[in-house]
Amino acid sequence: SNLFDHNAIRSQFPVLSQMLGDNPLCYLDTAATSQKPQMVLDAMTAYYQFDNANVHRAAHQLAARATIQYEKVRQQVQDFINSPSLQQVIFTHGTTESINMVAHGLMDTLSKDDIILVDGAAHHANIVPWQALAKRVGAKVVAIPLDANGRIDQTAYDELLLTQPKLVALAHVSNALGTVNPINAMVAKAKAIGALTLVDGAQAVAHLAVDVQTLDCDYYVFSGHKMYGPTGIGILYGKLAALNMLTPMLTGGEMIKTVSFDGTTYGELPNRLEAGTPAIAEVMGFGAAITFLNSLPQAQLRQHEQQLLRYLQQQLSQLGDITLYGVDGGKESHENIGSVAFNLANEHHQDVSILLDQQGIAIRSGHHCAMPLMQSLQIKGCCRASIGLYSNKQDIDRFISAMAQVKSILL
Ligand code: PMP
Repeated sequence: SNLFDHNAIRSQFPVLSQMLGDNPLCYLDTAATSQKPQMVLDAMTAYYQFDNANVHRAAHQLAARATIQYEKVRQQVQDFINSPSLQQVIFTHGTTESINMVAHGLMDTLSKDDIILVDGAAHHANIVPWQALAKRVGAKVVAIPLDANGRIDQTAYDELLLTQPKLVALAHVSNALGTVNPINAMVAKAKAIGALTLVDGAQAVAHLAVDVQTLDCDYYVFSGHKMYGPTGIGILYGKLAALNMLTPMLTGGEMIKTVSFDGTTYGELPNRLEAGTPAIAEVMGFGAAITFLNSLPQAQLRQHEQQLLRYLQQQLSQLGDITLYGVDGGKESHENIGSVAFNLANEHHQDVSILLDQQGIAIRSGHHCAMPLMQSLQIKGCCRASIGLYSNKQDIDRFISAMAQVKSILL
């Protein structure tokens, strides 16, 4: 991590250089939302300051400028995930909305007694919409069981595929544990039995190169705010047939071809799934986030993040009285990405995070919107420290020495 100027990258995130009382901020909650580089903030301000107009509508110059920039970001996203076409990139307000659009959209495709297989470690955003769909059409949601480390039990998965599910919904990377599913193989197996596949990439896109054509899933969804962009913007990528099969969740302006009181016809992709005025400024900010990421030395940053995560795992285990989740035998793992989940002895996770906060250290504690995963691990909740490309060794060292102090207070 000394091979490149990491400080120069980190210094582009203005929020990180603040004090919280007597302590400099130590931000280890990137999995909840990442911080934003100045470029992203500037792009949003510049849109409002110079180009503010609705997109796709008026003939005037501001509208033309806004529309060109908006559509340029769609192209950036296309390149970022290697989508075969622009029409397959749908702007949404985030991962949650994207999954809801698919679940709602399949109400005319799925029917009674159909099976929907869902990752047992999934975020609630990748569980509850399927339950709502199942309730609506009389289908059944079946959880894919996990092993003792919170990873998908691949044998159980293979067996469940024999039940001929119509849809398989998986996380790419678990938000609670940072575990990575063997996603290529899992999607391939689901496709082999003819199931539709949705991959929740919310925790993957900031850390891994994602190629939707290699992955070959029907739907891939993620949020801008977890990859250094603003909140309120996300992506629904889909194969053309998979997107065309969706009944639009939102109807209204922008998504139509013709409207009359005798009947309305819907427009083509991507507009068909983008009713109403979109989050234009957020799209501009999202574009700047992709430009920012593309400007960085990817391989070095990935290595930096992996080294940092391993260091974090090692230091935590060495502290003693720590249970790490999502890693083999409670030891450090070379496979996890972004997050470390843990508990301190039998202490309540919230007590730990509150004591850390008093020293300026921001982590998350709770069930991490993955209650079924917590049940499977037989815990009520845990602490999660998560890193981003701006995190450095100093963050980890401060966290670990604060944890040593927390331990001496609580134990
Ligand atoms: N899925 C995963 C794996 C996530 O980490 C998150 C965000 N915590 C979501 C879905 C929901 O994303 P959003 O809140 O941006 O809609």
